[in-house]
Amino acid sequence: KIVVLDGYTLNPGDISWEELEKMGQLTVYDRTKPEEVLERIKTADVVYTNKTPLTKEVLEVCRSIKFIGVLATGYNIVDVEAAKTLGIKVANIPSYGTAAVAQFAIALLLELCHHVGEHSDCVKRGDWSSSKDWCFWNHPLTELAGKTMGVIGFGRIGQETARIAQALGMKILAYDAYQRTELETETCRYAELDELLVRSDVITLHCPLFPSTKGIINKETIAKMKDGVLIINDSRGPLIVEEDLRDALNSGKVGGAAVDVVSTEPIRMDNPLLEAKNVIITPHIAWAPRESRQRLMNIAADNLKCFLEG
Ligand code: NAD
Repeated sequence: KIVVLDGYTLNPGDISWEELEKMGQLTVYDRTKPEEVLERIKTADVVYTNKTPLTKEVLEVCRSIKFIGVLATGYNIVDVEAAKTLGIKVANIPSYGTAAVAQFAIALLLELCHHVGEHSDCVKRGDWSSSKDWCFWNHPLTELAGKTMGVIGFGRIGQETARIAQALGMKILAYDAYQRTELETETCRYAELDELLVRSDVITLHCPLFPSTKGIINKETIAKMKDGVLIINDSRGPLIVEEDLRDALNSGKVGGAAVDVVSTEPIRMDNPLLEAKNVIITPHIAWAPRESRQRLMNIAADNLKCFLEG
């Protein structure tokens, strides 16, 4: 018995659930509210979740669950320690969306540098340009070649983002808990966090959400950054203390920020970033091109197959 708690993110009708259907009796719910989780999975053998949390309290009651598939790379929504104690295997999907998420980080960066959407809106409003009020005075453009990108978390997505940034002429400083010196080149080297903060023109976050990374962008770390630094986050919202980023954006210390993820999703209307200047916020969609979603589905089925085959 296979239950998918929140298939809506995967299934606007353009990808197939066929591989999972072959392996059991499949029920796909569009979304599941926290109070509905228990009822829906209490007799399931296999549970898939994308964003619906699976807590210790729920897992302790649902004793038939043998396998949890997280339909995502970040697996912080599942209490993995509790699952381990209960003998439930948990599998995430690490590499389905590396290209998509890196591409999105670069898209966010380019939008901060070029404001394509704003300029297009100006034109559509009939405002092509005029000598006293060129729209680029309000939305100045920034060149990236020769500038330095600091990449916090130099894993799959961090490395791919750095590869594209180097093609734009940027130099890379990488910070990671584990260093692989073979990844260093003439234009890319590891640095301590403090050096990265001080020297980067752009800082992009690609580390997982762990206790050690929660709030890594805060008042103190922002104070060390260059004035006008640009910050990108398409990893996890709680990596940033949003009140501190709001203050730094509004004071101009941070020149712009673009985030695909926020501390509480869906975003709350009292999220501090909604009061910030020069911020772009997208609704956690970096992973979602059709190609990535189909890859995600195929790997999810492969993971279950491996589990069933021992
Ligand atoms: P990865 O495991 O390949 O890379 C993560 C890197 O972070 C690793 O190199 C690891 O050593 C490093 N790291 C771990 N702890 C650290 C610490 N304390 N300080 C610095 N670095 C540390 O993962 P990935 O595939 O590159 O994905 C990165 C993150 O991207 C995921 O954890 C997830 O949160 C996020 N993500 C977001 C989306 C989206 O749609 N926005 C989609 C997929 C993944």
